[in-house]
Order: sequence, then C-alpha cells, then structure tokens
Amino acid sequence: MEVKVTRVTKVFHTKTERVRALDEVSFLCPSGKVLTLLGPSGCGKTTLLRCIAGLEEPDFGEIRLGERVVWSKEKGVSVPPERRGIGMVFQSYAIWPHMTVFENVAFPLRVKKVPRAEVARRVRAILEMVQLSGFENRPATRLSGGQQQRVALARALVSEPKVLLFDEPLSNLDAKLREATRHELRTFLSHLKITAIYVTHDRAEALAISDEIAVMNQGKIVARGTPKELYFFADDPFVVDFIGRANFLKGTLVGYDPDGFALVRFPFGVLRCVGQGFPLGMEVTVVIRPESFSLSGEGGNVLSGRVISAIFTGEDYEVRVSLDENTVVLAKLEATFPTIPQPGETIELRVTPQWCRVLRA
Ligand code: ADP
Ligand code: MG
Repeated sequence: MEVKVTRVTKVFHTKTERVRALDEVSFLCPSGKVLTLLGPSGCGKTTLLRCIAGLEEPDFGEIRLGERVVWSKEKGVSVPPERRGIGMVFQSYAIWPHMTVFENVAFPLRVKKVPRAEVARRVRAILEMVQLSGFENRPATRLSGGQQQRVALARALVSEPKVLLFDEPLSNLDAKLREATRHELRTFLSHLKITAIYVTHDRAEALAISDEIAVMNQGKIVARGTPKELYFFADDPFVVDFIGRANFLKGTLVGYDPDGFALVRFPFGVLRCVGQGFPLGMEVTVVIRPESFSLSGEGGNVLSGRVISAIFTGEDYEVRVSLDENTVVLAKLEATFPTIPQPGETIELRVTPQWCRVLRA
C-alpha cells in the first residue's frame, strides 16, 4: 500500500525553545517498495515515523495510506494507531523480557482477541518466515541480539500490516552482525513485497536496503533518489558528503574541451570534469569520491602529490595526499599494489574525468 505524506509539519514546544522537527515534509512511498529516510541525528526521522504511525500528532499536513486519509489537519481526520494497519520495529526492539518468543509474537493478536488456534497457527508461520522456528519457548532474554531483532520483526508482521516502519532497527547490533543482517533484511523485504519506511543515520545501511532514499536535514527532505543515483549523481554537497566519503575541491572553470568536459583550474593543475552550462570564470566545487582514484590507467586526469599518511584497511589502502599547500585529498587505492605508499613519497593519482563532477549547488 502506498504511503503519501503531504506537507507534514511538527513543532515541539519546550520551556525554552521551539523546535521545528518537521518542516513541510512531503513524499510518496510506492506500494511494495522500501523507502529509507536517511539523515543525521536530530533531523526529524523518528518524529516523521511516529506521525505516520499515529504516535505523534502533526501540526499541519496530511498522511494517506493507500486511498485512506489517516491524518489531516484540514479534514479533521485522526485515525488512532491501532487502526492504521501499520507494523513497527524499533531500535530497542521493545520485546518483553519476561515472555517467551511465542508470547512476544502472539501479543498483538491476543490484544485483538484472535482465537487461540489461529494465534498458534499465525505465530508459527511468522516465526518460520524469520527463521526462528524451534525457539517458541525460549525466554526472549536468552536470545542473541540478532535473534531478538527478528522477534521484533515477527511481532510487527504478525498482524499482517500493509506498511512496516523501521526506526534504526540494526543500531544495537555489533558491526559484523549488522552487515549480515543488511543482506537478510534486503532479501526478506524484497520477497515480502511490503511497503516499508526505514529510518537510519547509517549511509551504508541505507544504500544496501533501499529501493529509494530520501535524505533529510533539519526537518526537511533535501534529496531523493535510488541509492546509485544519490551516490553517483547527487548535486547537493550535504547529500554528497552524507551518503559517502568525498573530496570537495574548489577551483575556477576555465573552459571546455572538445569532448565536452569542463576544464577546472586549481593551484595544483587543471582537471577535466563532468559539467556543462557553467559560465567561464565561475568559482565551482568539484567532487571526487576517494575510491575513484587509482595509481594506474591512461587518458584521465593525473594529480601529482605527496603522501601525508597511509593506512591499510584490509580492503584497500587509504592514502591522504597533499596536492598543494592548501589541498589534501583522500584516496582509496587497491591493496593489490605490492607496497603501501610511504609518507613523504611522491605519487601520481589517476582519475577519469567521468568521476570528477562539477557540483551544481
Ligand atoms: P532523529 O530521529 O532524526 O534523530 P527526532 O525526530 O527524534 O530526530 O527529533 C527531531 C528534533 O525534534 C530534535 O531536535 C529533537 O530534539 C526534537 N524533539 C523530538 N521529540 C521531542 C519532544 N517530545 N519534545 C521536544 N523536542 C523533541
Ligand atoms: Mg531517531
């Protein structure tokens, strides 16, 4: 079921200040898709989820689930949370420690007075889906973090919601388990074909799990696109920076070459870049992702510089290179090169013009 949020605004009043947590937020999440709201802590993600779930009352705007208006200031509609058909998974899991796995998952059905036999049948089916069959009688506290998280997911799913909301559900897991769970969740959600709105501040999680990402900052959605669109083509420096690591270089646009690449001059030299329609002489920002650099390759830009520091990450070498007095870039270089670059060494970084972009913003 699609979710449509129109101009939702929420202001919190505390003793000392007014916080505009949501500032006319609008978006549509198509039916059966996973939309992630990605943004820094405090940007309004949880507030937005709570408004959709009905746990928070907006000040203005409208929220639709499919054809049904569940909240509207103008129409005076406010459907209570339990009648919105939404399942929610929280960061804290919020599972009950004194109950067994079965009882935790059965709880929403018991509240609705579903007959015993049907409860048993549905709980078993859901537990199988989240791969927790056989754990029915385990006290919830005697589960690993990842298993507890799956109990929370099962409990959210057991009422057969049309929409699932996730609020940073992986943030209590350790790094390794979090990475594994990303795969599981992505596979699970795409098989389930349920509409899901997923909140996180973790860009890797957002890139991995989403069909589309809406980037939030200070109560507003500032960009929207598929993970690849945002990673490779976002124009807003905040978005470029938030969704991955990036080098921002300020230079002057001095011309265009016959292939249509923009020529941007820096103190360390001229780079060929993707960018069209900028006037000559304009001060521009060029963005290059660290992994776009290489030590080999022909026909691209060559940036000569001095290594400041280099570390081995296991996946690659991360090298900071000084190009001139005021410019240091971060490059992620394939660790297959036999030796790690040494501080003080001069190296030539190569990058094709396609991965040097003049930002429009
Ligand atoms: P996020 O989930 O992105 O970290 P939140 O939605 O929790 O952000 O919060 C957005 C802003 O609203 C923050 O500045 C936060 O301090 C404020 N806020 C959230 N809930 C309340 C509340 N109940 N009372 C006052 N301010 C709140
Ligand atoms: Mg939050």
